[in-house]
Amino acid sequence: MDKQIDLNSFIERVNIVIGFADGDLSEDFKNGVEFAVDMMKSHPQADPKIRKGIWKETGEYWSEGCGMGESYGCYYACNLCGYIMRYKTPFCSNCGADMRGEQDE
Ligand SMILES: [Zn+2]
Repeated sequence: MDKQIDLNSFIERVNIVIGFADGDLSEDFKNGVEFAVDMMKSHPQADPKIRKGIWKETGEYWSEGCGMGESYGCYYACNLCGYIMRYKTPFCSNCGADMRGEQDE
């Protein structure tokens, strides 16, 4: 599965780590990191703002197994793209929206 990252917070973290280790790092290493960060920034899919979404209960239920092993729950739909999941996940698998914020309970 693809992973989505918040590019700005990633770069912030890189800068913090570089800042802490500044005296111990070679110029070549720092240039290499700078080069990699520039490549990420200029990547066509680099989106500076990852959209925030929420999981909405669809009102539809799923169940599987029987007797002791039965499990069930309701389906959740991404409020941005409508993708339906059985469980609330941190990111929408379809559109990549960040679902970790406040949820509609
Ligand atoms: Zn979605």
